Amino acid sequence: MSQSESRSEPYDAVVVGASLAGCTAATLIARAGLRVALVEKNPDPAGFKRICSHFIQSSAVGTLQRLGALRDLERMGARRSRTRLWTRWGWVVPPLSPTVPASVNIRRSRLDPFMREMAAQTPGVDLILGESAEELVRDGGGTVRGVVIRDRSGKRHELRASLTIGADGRDSRVAELSQVPARRLTNARFAYAAYYEGPPPAGDPDGSLWVLDPQMAAAFPTDEGLTMYAAMPTHDRLPEFKRDPGRALDSFVSDIPDAPPILASRRVGPVQGKIDMTNVVRRSTAPGLALAGDAALALDPFWGVGCGFALQTAEWLADAVVPALQGRQPLADALDAYRKRSVGRLGQHVQSIVTYSGGRRLNAGERVVFSAATRGERMRVLLEELGTRNVAPLHFLGRAVPCAIATHVGDRLRSRSGSPKAGHEPMEVAL
Ligand SMILES: Cc1cc2nc3c(=O)[nH]c(=O)nc-3n(C[C@H](O)[C@H](O)[C@H](O)COP(=O)(O)OP(=O)(O)OC[C@H]3O[C@@H](n4cnc5c(N)ncnc54)[C@H](O)[C@@H]3O)c2cc1C
Repeated sequence: MSQSESRSEPYDAVVVGASLAGCTAATLIARAGLRVALVEKNPDPAGFKRICSHFIQSSAVGTLQRLGALRDLERMGARRSRTRLWTRWGWVVPPLSPTVPASVNIRRSRLDPFMREMAAQTPGVDLILGESAEELVRDGGGTVRGVVIRDRSGKRHELRASLTIGADGRDSRVAELSQVPARRLTNARFAYAAYYEGPPPAGDPDGSLWVLDPQMAAAFPTDEGLTMYAAMPTHDRLPEFKRDPGRALDSFVSDIPDAPPILASRRVGPVQGKIDMTNVVRRSTAPGLALAGDAALALDPFWGVGCGFALQTAEWLADAVVPALQGRQPLADALDAYRKRSVGRLGQHVQSIVTYSGGRRLNAGERVVFSAATRGERMRVLLEELGTRNVAPLHFLGRAVPCAIATHVGDRLRSRSGSPKAGHEPMEVAL
């Protein structure tokens, strides 16, 4: 601390990380008339996250609307998509739920600078680029009172604030410094992905996911007519991807059932890989501090929840803390409310995503659901509400179990009476 100096009067909030979560939190807090320092270590205002398939789940579309960003993103080429799911019982395809808004897909090279510009243009936000959070400032009682940031010349500054927000991604330095409890849970898969131009995949603009159990693959149409193809194999396949990522990606995706036209397409840009995708779940608050986005919750990317959860947690955080930062409520109560809302809304999703990322096969319940969804419209609707994170797993189960039973019993009766089945062969299930 000896070489650092205090830069300005205290802020209401200092946000570390100017990506999806950080820009959302900074924008919404400043719109309430508060002063926010938004610190980003990347000096480039057009910087963006390199490895991400940016399928923003529909549960977060409301946040984009509230930010006033949705129309602009559509103008910038964002695709409005749903998800097609390949399972060994067949495809689960749209049209699905009429009440679920379509998801949003736009490359991070467009999305991230847009979000940063939106935050920087918000009165009350000071965007500080090219400086890294290095230390937390604490008072005598241990409550966080700001951060020490360091510029590229090595000069350090202290930024004091009533609230410090760590929105600095899955390897969050703020979380590490705060020593909040964290759980790390194995992910048996890694990811390689690249953009391609060429014939669109079936279902375009909808994204396609292949649940190859336990391997996974994806095709995400995005802006400018590009498609991101992604392979998420288990770790035993890593050597071939390390040897020649481009060839391994092409070969993996072209080998899957109902393969998309990757071999008829041209790769544009590098193949990006992410080998360690350990799930990291952290307690999202401590005195004077909150975490949002991947800093709080970095999950297996296959189900495409990270961007949406980053936007949503940042929104919930802003809603919770604004009254406290305006002096109308104790900050500790507001942080408590934020943590409870995040756990309440996301806890069950986290549980189901984390257990499947460990490399296990689909369990009996999941097999019943996927199989029924290939044959019955009602189950497709329920599955979409769950997969887009618009309803929680327990809520889903309460409606899916009777629906699955009805689908399978219907199939049995039809097959006994000799009438044709609704779709694919019913699965054999041992419940
Ligand atoms: C292979 C892969 C595919 C994915 N596909 C999807 C998908 O299809 N859909 C989806 O929703 N999610 C997907 N994700 C997840 C998604 O990328 C993340 O969940 C999302 O980027 C989290 O946003 P964030 O704002 O919390 O953090 P990030 O986007 O990681 O941003 C963190 C920011 O903090 C800055 N920073 C870090 N440390 C410091 C510091 N010390 N000081 C100052 N600044 C700092 C960084 O430079 C960065 O700008 C995928 C992830 C992977 C790995």
